[in-house]
Amino acid sequence: MSTLLPWLQPAWRQLQESRRKGQLAHAILLRGRAGFGKSQLVSALVASLLCDNPATPGEACGTCRGCALLAAGSHPDLLRLVPAEPGKAILIDQVRELGGYFALRPHYGTTKIAVLEPADALNRAAANALLKILEEPPAGALIVLTAARAERLPATVRSRCQQHVIDRGSVHNILTWLDQQGGHPADNAEALARAGGSPLRALEFVDPTLASAIDRLPDALAGVAAGTLHPLSAAAQCSKMPVLLLIDQLLRLCHELFLLKNWLPLPLAEAGRTVSADLQRMANELDSRRIAEFVQRALDVKQLKLSSASARDLDLAESVWFDWRATGQ
Ligand SMILES: [Zn+2]
Repeated sequence: MSTLLPWLQPAWRQLQESRRKGQLAHAILLRGRAGFGKSQLVSALVASLLCDNPATPGEACGTCRGCALLAAGSHPDLLRLVPAEPGKAILIDQVRELGGYFALRPHYGTTKIAVLEPADALNRAAANALLKILEEPPAGALIVLTAARAERLPATVRSRCQQHVIDRGSVHNILTWLDQQGGHPADNAEALARAGGSPLRALEFVDPTLASAIDRLPDALAGVAAGTLHPLSAAAQCSKMPVLLLIDQLLRLCHELFLLKNWLPLPLAEAGRTVSADLQRMANELDSRRIAEFVQRALDVKQLKLSSASARDLDLAESVWFDWRATGQ
């Protein structure tokens, strides 16, 4: 399918092959990290299954009644279960909706689809309720789950799904793809590293304002650890950066400091990333145990932000920078 992201093509072909042979399971689990495009693959699969009149094998026509209903968000044979808010759990009451939904016959074709995204957001009670449905799947039901952390799903749920792993393929191909998206070739390896290797997230990190804000973080880390920059000043410097992004970038830099301290290659070193002398010096000077303690505290702050809507970004950022100062003392 030509419009799909290139690295999704193998999984797409596999799904279509299963469908052609009549071997598409009643439950499919798409596994792959955040920013790998799982949602795009789900959309393509759903569109192809709900299209009355696929133009080419597996590809939705875009014009039939099924495609029009899907585009309007009102196809009666599709139910999407997502958390009420990003980062929150999918709850048991939501999963119970599936019972009533699947009890009715499909309105148009022969398939009723439910998409649970991300399925690793199912809490324990919700996952158990889903398991009961997976144990006795209704005729014509297709349940599609996506998960970046599939290990969080009970093994009993995973084992009842046909699993497809989404991989982004070679770094070389991803860098070529990023070049085609209009990024600056020299910066793309760095953008991909900042995105933890996820191609779709890397596009955000190509943005020059964000890139330069992230570029300043190592200096701020060094300054705060050395006592030459106050934690409040460091927090003010990066006040335009959402705190979750700030924490993720600090955690990434901590990981890189660990690697450098142990003379190990940085992620994507093969793509030509170079190590700055300043970062290497900071790695040599810092105490690994203190960095590990900081990582734990930063993860706690991240959890606090995810679980509390009232936590203010600036307060959290200040607390993170104060925590970082302790690594230098
Ligand atoms: Zn169609």
